[in-house]
Amino acid sequence: MFKKILIANRGEIALRVQRACRELGIKSVMVYSEADRDAKYIRLADEAICIGPAPAGASYLQMPSIISAAEVSDAEAIHPGYGFLSENADFAERVERSGFAFIGPTAESIRIMGDKVSAKQAMIKAGVPCVPGSEGELSDDPTEMRATARAVGYPVIIKAAGGGGRGMRVVHTEAALVNAVQMTKSEAQAAFGNPAVYMEKFLENPRHIEIQVLADTHGNAVYLGERDCSMQRRHQKVIEEAPAFGIPRRLIEKIGDRCAAACKRIGYRGAGTFEFLYENGEFYFIEMNTRVQVEHPVTEMITGVDVVKNQILVAAGQKLGFTQRDIEIRGHAIECRINAEDPYKFTPSPGKITTWHAPGGPGVRVDSHMYTGYTVPPNYDSMIGKVIVHGDTREEALARMSSALLETVVEGIKTNIPLHRELLVDANFATGGTNIHYLEKWLEQRPDRT
Ligand code: ADP
Repeated sequence: MFKKILIANRGEIALRVQRACRELGIKSVMVYSEADRDAKYIRLADEAICIGPAPAGASYLQMPSIISAAEVSDAEAIHPGYGFLSENADFAERVERSGFAFIGPTAESIRIMGDKVSAKQAMIKAGVPCVPGSEGELSDDPTEMRATARAVGYPVIIKAAGGGGRGMRVVHTEAALVNAVQMTKSEAQAAFGNPAVYMEKFLENPRHIEIQVLADTHGNAVYLGERDCSMQRRHQKVIEEAPAFGIPRRLIEKIGDRCAAACKRIGYRGAGTFEFLYENGEFYFIEMNTRVQVEHPVTEMITGVDVVKNQILVAAGQKLGFTQRDIEIRGHAIECRINAEDPYKFTPSPGKITTWHAPGGPGVRVDSHMYTGYTVPPNYDSMIGKVIVHGDTREEALARMSSALLETVVEGIKTNIPLHRELLVDANFATGGTNIHYLEKWLEQRPDRT
């Protein structure tokens, strides 16, 4: 087992990984930017090394500084968290070439999954259902393009292979097709330096359902149930829950088994998430995240499996300590992401937190690096923490979350807690099964009461 791990991240996920290290008896080395100097998890670290000024490009994205920090501190492994360098195949490669273990999959797995076209091809081969569309990269030839779209059926969506959610375009008619493809290609070239695009059937009212997997280097892979992350605004998840309301278990088991089998087939190691759109009883793979996700706690709450500790254990070469049969889903968990932002206008609200009071009680978990007197820096993502609850039933979890958020006090900055509190008592959300457009429509129709 590792004796010392460098955590190449910040905020709540840095703290989350630090907690896992401590429980495993592993020393943690934190790297931090000048903006994060005062964070409590920096003080709690066994060692902490400043790697540069506030902008992420000058600190958390600086591969040489992070690798030097691992060298000088004698760390044996690097945990990348999420965001920043976590899905950067070059980073994973450099970490391993420098003699450290990368707590994540191989650079090759990251590379395959980072390109949407190669990811889809790998999934099709592994028997994971995908959205019908072009086979690989879309041809430049207008006749072929039209034939593909006709076979898929309008509306279609044109997406950049380089990914990242930008430059997607929905096309409803053949007349608009060729122009839309050309525009998406030039945007993809500008954004990712890669003009490759592909075509998919555009699903009108899907839910976002994802499968968490864990795989070791001994050929074992399990799935840890599903999460429903349909409550999104501008493709950003706002509330996540597990299990997904109203989806028959046999469908989850079938898709979960496929995901675990795909991991074995592609030699995947560590934690990962297969993201699907779910519509009319069918799952359609859209992408794989090759890292721990923000919403992993809801899975931990319903399975009792610690995702982060297991990431570390399998990176150290250990076998998973459980099989698929040992995984039991118990109760229901919900996570609300707490963002430092205006709850209805969504403008960031960094600044000093004059009062921070976290909720508690049975089945309540708070993953956050906040404290009274902490200053939220303006340089990073606005998420300042997560409140997660577990209950025997979905109803109990909803009531518990409402109660927990009522207890939560954050003063000095604005947060989205008022938005969460309204959503938790919304009749349709309370019923369950709302789709990925629900939140944006709800926001549009909401009378301005602020
Ligand atoms: P990203 O890299 O930004 O996560 P994805 O391929 O995962 O890109 O797509 C992002 C979002 O775009 C999805 O969560 C979904 O809301 C929407 N989307 C993607 N593909 C389709 C599709 N075929 N039909 C309908 N919506 C889609």
